[in-house]
Amino acid sequence: MNQNRFVTDKVNILSHKPPFAVAHFDADAFFTSVEQAADRRLRNRPVAVGGGRRGIIACASYEARAKGIYTPMPTSQARQRCPELIILPGRFELYEEFSQNVFGLCRDITPTVEQTSIDEGYLDLTSTQGTNPSHIIKRLRKLDEDILGWLKITVSQGLGANKLISQIASKLHKPHGFMAVPAGRERAFLATLPLQNLPGIGPRTLQRLTDCGFARIGDLLTCPQEELQPILGKRTEPIRQMARGEDDRRILPEAPPAQSMSQQKTFAADQEEEAVVCREAKILLADLLTRLREQNKQARTLSLRLRYCDWETSERHESLDEPSDLESDFLPLLPSLLRRCWQRRVRIRLLAVKLDNFYPSFEQTKLWPDQTSRRRKLARAMDQINHQYGPHTLHHGFRFP
Ligand SMILES: [Mg+2]
Repeated sequence: MNQNRFVTDKVNILSHKPPFAVAHFDADAFFTSVEQAADRRLRNRPVAVGGGRRGIIACASYEARAKGIYTPMPTSQARQRCPELIILPGRFELYEEFSQNVFGLCRDITPTVEQTSIDEGYLDLTSTQGTNPSHIIKRLRKLDEDILGWLKITVSQGLGANKLISQIASKLHKPHGFMAVPAGRERAFLATLPLQNLPGIGPRTLQRLTDCGFARIGDLLTCPQEELQPILGKRTEPIRQMARGEDDRRILPEAPPAQSMSQQKTFAADQEEEAVVCREAKILLADLLTRLREQNKQARTLSLRLRYCDWETSERHESLDEPSDLESDFLPLLPSLLRRCWQRRVRIRLLAVKLDNFYPSFEQTKLWPDQTSRRRKLARAMDQINHQYGPHTLHHGFRFP
């Protein structure tokens, strides 16, 4: 990665008067950047994280992208396309450590930081000391220098009056980009951008809009509303609001849905049977995994918490080497985790299961149906049946050893 490229050449301030309320940052090619930061020999070389059980590329360095490697691409195809590609299995603990350091540096700027994924988040700039725009830009530049100097990775930053604008701005000049859109300039800023820059527009909607002759975000506002109604339906007004650059979502520091997911059960009668408690843990875990798949996320860490009938609690956790959203990966952890957690010979009144260390789902492509993708397909089919006929109509077989 070109480390001499500082943010100054990317600053694009359309007006300097009004203050900026939100900054969005997004680390560039995060997994491979961390690998390159941790091992000097990998720098400036085509690197990808992937392979292993998964059979797909989960992240490609910019050097690899220049040679046609993208995410998600079957590893075998990537090897063919770029024989010198260095494919690494992924060290997720290391990525989480880097992530914590990045967010730690962000909290030096403002106490109100919302983490939306391992390498993306929002900073509330209204809670910093002083809202002078040049002062804010200086502080964000310092943040960029600190991340690059200390962690040897780059992030792209966007500034705006709200979450929507700052997020779109941060993605425009990757890698190591910086763009500021002052309040009042949102509509002009969005007008000429291609439709796919608007986060609410998925591939299917995009196709339908393109088929009807829409190309730029501004087109959504210049046409009469009746033209959009048949394509967007109920979403017409919310999407037009976005096209105007309006967004009143607040920044939620430590937003629980982004950080972890948990479910608990209080037993009707205090339990002493290991098999019963383990079966209950399995049911709670299955519910969490269904929710995880619905949100297109994967998790790496499973925690169990018990409350004994004398109200003492005990908690243990265990992490997979790679994030997953499948029962076949998490269920085998349960028995040993339960035994480590349930140390006293005392009955249990409450059991809680938690998943955390979230990642976006590295969905398999259909081109490469390996065992993991077949299992995911099965899990999704079971989710659908359980959704239609009631929870736990079908569940994964699991024998408690
Ligand atoms: Mg990123």
